[in-house]
Amino acid sequence: MQVVSSISDLKTARRKMHGSLGFVPTMGFLHEGHLSLVRQARAENEHTVVSIFVNPTQFLPHEDFNSYPRNEEKDLALLQKESVDLVFMPEVKEIFTENHCTFINLDGLSDVLEGAIRPGHFRGVATVVTQLFNLVEPTRSYFGQKGAQQLLLIKKMIADLKMNLEIIACPTIREEDGLAMSSRNVYLKAEDRRLAGVIPKALFMARDLWMVGERNSEALRGQVKGIISKVSGIEIDYVSIADPKNLTELDRITRFYPWR
Ligand code: AMP
Repeated sequence: MQVVSSISDLKTARRKMHGSLGFVPTMGFLHEGHLSLVRQARAENEHTVVSIFVNPTQFLPHEDFNSYPRNEEKDLALLQKESVDLVFMPEVKEIFTENHCTFINLDGLSDVLEGAIRPGHFRGVATVVTQLFNLVEPTRSYFGQKGAQQLLLIKKMIADLKMNLEIIACPTIREEDGLAMSSRNVYLKAEDRRLAGVIPKALFMARDLWMVGERNSEALRGQVKGIISKVSGIEIDYVSIADPKNLTELDRITRFYPWR
């Protein structure tokens, strides 16, 4: 496995890779969720490239950019085990050179849901992902359904800008109690971690109600909010049932929305 940090080394290595290339962009501190993407990329392509880059432009000023969990040594050992061909781990100044002033915004999609709470977050995501795509030139890039809004935005960006690659949506990998695996779960104290199990419980309950025929979105949102708000210490930012094409809230769920 080759590990490179400069753009010129990446380009040299990339030129030697012929055939299909699967790419998994990450911010590191890898867990089974990331590794499931890597395994799918490996299974579907001749070459696999993973990037590890904690992207400052997707963090708001008060957020955890400086304290975001990092463990390069462990990450590289995990990727080596998965037989990844190349890991790209650039420094910030390599990607965002001085006076960088070009950013990508998805009007109407970047500033709703997660984007309403974290203004500028998706502008940072879309901008870095575009740069990584330009550098790595993947055939396919793999994203987790866990970041549902991110995935939808990137798919839309690819379509709008006619970018020449395919985006593959991968299922969310969960802990035993159903909580989605996340690098940031290490922030949770034992008691908070235990309480967080109510979030998947509420979401799965909504899914089960839908499966037995409930089509009224507000009723489903209400059920989810009801279950979560019974737990003291959790504050709900939003519960959304939205059309995955344009993220507008649905009154009724009249059809099944597959990921592809
Ligand atoms: P991150 O390192 O958090 O930026 O995540 C990198 C990629 O891994 C994104 O496409 C995420 O959606 C994906 N990912 C993170 N956690 C999970 C998970 N629990 N299951 C599946 N994919 C995940």
